[in-house]
Amino acid sequence: MKKGIAASRGYAIGKVVLNEKEEAVVVERKIENAAEEKNRLQAAVSLSREQITKIMAKAEAEMGADKAAVFESHIMLLDDPEFVGAIEASIEGAMINAEKALKDTVDMYMGIFESMEDEYMKERAADVKDVGNRILNNLLGIATEAVEVSGNDAVIVAHDLTPSDTAGLDKSKVVAFLTDIGGRTSHSAIMARTLEIPAIVGLGDITVSVKNGDTVIVDGCEGIVIINPSDAQIEEYKAKKVKFEKEKEELKKLIEVKTTTKAGKRIEVVGNIGKPEDVHKVIENGGEGVGLFRTEFLYMDRDNMPTEEEQFEAYKYVAEKLEGKPVVIRTLDIGGDKKLPYLPMPEEMNPFLGYRAIRLCLDRKDIFKIQLRALLRASAFGNIKIMFPMISSVEEFLEAKKLLNECKEELKAEGKAYNDNLETGIMVEIPAAAVIADEFAKHVDFFSIGTNDLIQYTIAADRMNEKISYLYNPMHPAVLKLIKMTIEAAHNAGKWCGMCGEMAGDEEAIPTLVEYGLDEFSMSAS
Ligand code: PEP
Ligand code: MG
Repeated sequence: MKKGIAASRGYAIGKVVLNEKEEAVVVERKIENAAEEKNRLQAAVSLSREQITKIMAKAEAEMGADKAAVFESHIMLLDDPEFVGAIEASIEGAMINAEKALKDTVDMYMGIFESMEDEYMKERAADVKDVGNRILNNLLGIATEAVEVSGNDAVIVAHDLTPSDTAGLDKSKVVAFLTDIGGRTSHSAIMARTLEIPAIVGLGDITVSVKNGDTVIVDGCEGIVIINPSDAQIEEYKAKKVKFEKEKEELKKLIEVKTTTKAGKRIEVVGNIGKPEDVHKVIENGGEGVGLFRTEFLYMDRDNMPTEEEQFEAYKYVAEKLEGKPVVIRTLDIGGDKKLPYLPMPEEMNPFLGYRAIRLCLDRKDIFKIQLRALLRASAFGNIKIMFPMISSVEEFLEAKKLLNECKEELKAEGKAYNDNLETGIMVEIPAAAVIADEFAKHVDFFSIGTNDLIQYTIAADRMNEKISYLYNPMHPAVLKLIKMTIEAAHNAGKWCGMCGEMAGDEEAIPTLVEYGLDEFSMSAS
């Protein structure tokens, strides 16, 4: 049995499908500090050695020493001073990044092995490639897995899943997923809840604890995985699954009931979506609108930017389906753990504190304006509100508004319709914005509190890091104080305040949020 972080509720019994990694793309970058770059390389090499050692021990126990020998040769390569030395020399010689130096060295080694007559030596090229990929993935700290599944009871097991990997999971085949790393509010966890696929993240070493085809029980309520369970355990969990589904059915009776406090205050309960089709789940579950449309998912799983026309159709679709109910659409929030394969991003030490969301959009006005035009055009077809993410200063909001007004002028000149009175607001997800919420309240029409980020920035506890997930506490007094301040600032200025972070759907937090006067609760449809 293994325990991790329960990321998406539900039970599943299925067969392990280990997620293999794809080759990452390497871009050459000039560097200034060779020592720093060599340290990065050394760290990635050490981590690779650790990983291979674990895999080797497991392979030996399960498949015998001869099968495990291949990993020994991988470790020998990592320990080979000539191999690592060649990469370091390339970093220093050309003053280039470790990724590129690694790739050049691996290519050179592979070339040598491939040109040999001896079949055995020829095959060593594959080992060099394998080791090279592992170091590269560790250097990049990213997982670029492609999930391939046959059968209909797959439990995907991966070191990490990117949000687009998760979004792309086929629900008719995948019954659950498990990852080594991640926290409850990492985007792959959020996507799992949207898809209603049970998931456990932050399991540490699940990728080396199971092998393809193992039967596992996934308890997404308690965060427990049982590997190769007994018949009795399977029966026990089948019964739990039936009970869980029954309870879900019971809750459906409340769908039509309006959400009102005992004192008679009406509260708006709306849904978070990532793809236009997700709106159906929101409607089915009685959502009174959409409080967060994470538009970046429209940009993922493809190899070029979505055009103005494609985006217009997507936004219009959701607005029309909701027949006049509010649809809060967030502008592109790329960066952090969300990447686009066709948009090269600088490598950053702290991507969550970096070139992300509105920062990227104000820098890449060409990309931003396409989205703003599409949003404005769709606003003629329903109750669309625009929300800007990661706002930290009033100037950023005003600049975004200025661009929106420019787009309005353009559309007017082109004779294209839009709602001139559409509301614009900001996500309050950076503590700075909460602290000066009274200043913002003079300019915006609404706030939506993004607690997923607000909590991590307030407590300095990475939302993706399972090791410090015990610190990531929505009920921390500092977080509550910032939330209260934000709601009060909105109300003092006659504006409304919602919440679209996962805390809005947290049973423990809801009474406090109601007490603070939060107007709108936006959560995953499930
Ligand atoms: C948040 O930060 O709370 C939020 C809703 O945005 P995301 O989870 O997409 O960062
Ligand atoms: Mg956020």
